Amino acid sequence: MNVPLVLPQFLDRAVNLYGDKKAIISENRVLTYGQLNERVNRLSHGLKDAGVEKGDRVAYLAPNSIEMLEGFYGVFQVGGVMVPLNIRLKPDDYLFILNHSESKVLLVDQDLYHLITPIQDQLITVEQIIVHYKDDDTDELGYDEWMIQQSGDVFARVPLDENDVCSLLYTSGTTGNPKGVMLTHRNNYLHALSSMHHLRVTDEDVLLHVLPMFHVNGWGSPFYYTANGATQVCLRKTTPDTIFEALEKHKVSVMHMAPTVLNSLLQYYEKNTPSIEQAVRVIIAGSAPPPAFVTRVEKELGWEFIQVYGMTESTPLSLISVVRSHLKDLPVKDKYRIKSKAGISMIGCEVTVVTEQGKEVAHDGKEIGEVITRSNNVMLGYWKNEEATMETIRNGWLHTGDMATIDEYGHIDIVDRKKDIIISGGENISSIEVEGVLYDHPDVLEAAVIAVPHEKWGETPHAFVVLREGRSVTEQELVIFSREKLAHFKAITGVTFVNELPKTASGKIQKVVLRNEFWEAAGKGGKFVN
Ligand code: ATP
Ligand code: MG
Repeated sequence: MNVPLVLPQFLDRAVNLYGDKKAIISENRVLTYGQLNERVNRLSHGLKDAGVEKGDRVAYLAPNSIEMLEGFYGVFQVGGVMVPLNIRLKPDDYLFILNHSESKVLLVDQDLYHLITPIQDQLITVEQIIVHYKDDDTDELGYDEWMIQQSGDVFARVPLDENDVCSLLYTSGTTGNPKGVMLTHRNNYLHALSSMHHLRVTDEDVLLHVLPMFHVNGWGSPFYYTANGATQVCLRKTTPDTIFEALEKHKVSVMHMAPTVLNSLLQYYEKNTPSIEQAVRVIIAGSAPPPAFVTRVEKELGWEFIQVYGMTESTPLSLISVVRSHLKDLPVKDKYRIKSKAGISMIGCEVTVVTEQGKEVAHDGKEIGEVITRSNNVMLGYWKNEEATMETIRNGWLHTGDMATIDEYGHIDIVDRKKDIIISGGENISSIEVEGVLYDHPDVLEAAVIAVPHEKWGETPHAFVVLREGRSVTEQELVIFSREKLAHFKAITGVTFVNELPKTASGKIQKVVLRNEFWEAAGKGGKFVN
């Protein structure tokens, strides 16, 4: 008989094998797997009483916390679908997502509740809002009291099929409305199995959640760390000082993060040299960093660097930059070069690169095409948006919108997002490659390169740069620096110095914001709207 691959099995395993072991540490609170399980049961009883039935959506607006983690399993036990909300949105965005997802119950952190009150009257399907009040000076029934009222008995689980949807994750939707990505239990289960293998997760691991759990990169990881009885640490605020403090205090062994955050940790480390217990064994990050950056992470911080590639629509991971054993004898510089590529297919994923006509590009590391993937990780589709689903998944292949090359071993090197490529005088320029050069400049802290309009060439690369503290460099100097390191047509033609770059909640630079401002200023708004 086939056993359905459903996510509560991961918690069962942890409770059976690691019942007395620390499951989660959040601020000053610690729960064992046994205690976590008891709370999960209470939550499921409460949600059932609140009317949640199989397939109903339950929305969460919370930072990484015990309440968020127990929500994962508590919602699944009643057969519900979790809708985690990005905590950095505006009330109107929440209005759209809550109504679009037709959520029945909303659980919200006290500090974020003010984002919901202005739209509360306009929520069409939400029948109950449960606020996690932390202090007792309110007459409202808070989450903790509500939980105490619920039974802690084992909850009779609603039977699940592995193809049932477990989460609706909304994309950032920069200009249009965000899309709800439907991921199934099977998607997350198989993604977790393959990730725990590639990342060698064990019960000795202590994971510090740096990525928010409402984002797909943070969303997927609790499953495989739970299944292996690892300890998960949550912080309400993730800044370099709180991260370094947590590393030392909790003997953290693994972190997943955006490279921008890793970069800020490197800067902080170089400036403040905090003492670090070398318990960290590996850092997992995405986004094509230059080899010099990877080298600094491994040499200065002593942390192994693994690059991954993925997207919300594929749960997210499909590529990983492990250095394969037959390549182990490579000179060190080549090892870092390979680690700075997005990687090779993860187990269970087929990933390749095709031309516009759908033909595989040559495996020569040179010809550029679009990355497509077919796997157990690929979403069921976009919620209530068949058109977008059909556009994205064609003949069973997810079209990523990312451009790349592939070499003879299957290493995929992301060139750029289709929308970020700069087309200058008919030549394609990778903004990532140009940024890589700027990051090599000693005065540059962060850089984002975009296409700007140009009379003669159509477009040219323009850099937005944040300088390191106390450093100064002129626009002309940076232009010359890039011309020395790049073919002339790829060199930047201008620089805008800024104090910070616009970023998503997970730390990604939002080039579309930079681009829109620039193109609108040039009276050509709309050309690059995502
Ligand atoms: P939205 O789809 O809402 O506009 P988004 O595409 O940034 O937002 P995610 O699903 O979080 O949302 O991000 C996936 C994208 O991130 C990929 O399509 C790719 O462009 C980029 N990315 C992920 N990993 C890498 C990597 N290793 N190298 C380069 N780019 C990467
Ligand atoms: Mg996307």
